[in-house]
Amino acid sequence: MSKMFNFFKLSTQRKIIKAICDFDTIIIHRHQRPDPDAYGSQMGLANIIKESFPNKKVYCVGKQYQSFDWLGTTDEIDDDVYKNALVIVVDTANQPRVDDDRYTQGKMMIKIDHHPNDDQFGDIMWVEPEASSTSELIYDLFESSKKLKINANAGRLLYAGIIGDTGRFKYPSTSSNTFRVASELAKLDFSTSEVNTIESSIDLPMARLSAYVYENLSITDSGAAYIVLSDEVLEPFNLGNERTSAVVPLPGNINQVTAWAIFIQKEDGTYKISLRSKGPAINELAKEFGGGGHDLASGAAAKDEDEIKSVISKLDELVASYKGE
Ligand code: AMP
Repeated sequence: MSKMFNFFKLSTQRKIIKAICDFDTIIIHRHQRPDPDAYGSQMGLANIIKESFPNKKVYCVGKQYQSFDWLGTTDEIDDDVYKNALVIVVDTANQPRVDDDRYTQGKMMIKIDHHPNDDQFGDIMWVEPEASSTSELIYDLFESSKKLKINANAGRLLYAGIIGDTGRFKYPSTSSNTFRVASELAKLDFSTSEVNTIESSIDLPMARLSAYVYENLSITDSGAAYIVLSDEVLEPFNLGNERTSAVVPLPGNINQVTAWAIFIQKEDGTYKISLRSKGPAINELAKEFGGGGHDLASGAAAKDEDEIKSVISKLDELVASYKGE
């Protein structure tokens, strides 16, 4: 890390800590359709603030998902609470993805994130796209100030976020700092093994959907894979399309596959696209279809089958040119 960047990071962290100290009410938002890093960074930060400043009122907002009850539950709060509050938005690159659109109603707003900073918002912004996860950043924030204290539950939450966004330390964003932070967290009184087990476990319907994905995946000659999970396909699995995202990493386990797209039909008939890659960056392709994200993990939308075909053909070209075919 360059000295300049380090200086900038430390001064931003200092500003964030000052804001946390200055406000009595703090409301933490995260992104819609949350993953363990969204939950982990949101609730991990809330736990750190509550442990450090027991008199502050700290709330985590956003839709609660039963599958994440093991991490914690969100709070329902009145609009009035925002009046004099500090709002911290974690793990959310773009404003339309913030869960609960009251995030602008606080007195001050902070963005803490590890996605490319395509949408700059907040009075203070701390964005590190190279970081493995927002949970790793929250641990860095904790370490930056003697005023902050951590507890076992915060550790468990941040660890859950880190293993979620690194695919259990598998993805290239996993750095020596990621391992260092995980090692520090593992010193706290929670079971890393239990967190791994819960986060990796799937129920029978999900196992059957995984089998369907492996069975029906199409792979082009270049190594671009895709599958369309329409309502008709998903209905017999009885999962609800929010849970289907658990199948997104699966094609990456196949050695023939370099990049892949999973199309999941939404209630309005359009498709949510999950794009992943082990080689070429796919976030520019995601942007072409109204989305964005990381180089190797992005999301977008397709309105109909023509757009699906177009995404597949562009993904195929991308992989072919990456391999120099
Ligand atoms: P997903 O495939 O939904 O797990 O999304 C992977 C990543 O892509 C997320 O972590 C976000 O960074 C990004 N992403 C997903 N959907 C969108 C979107 N509609 N707009 C911008 N970025 C997105």
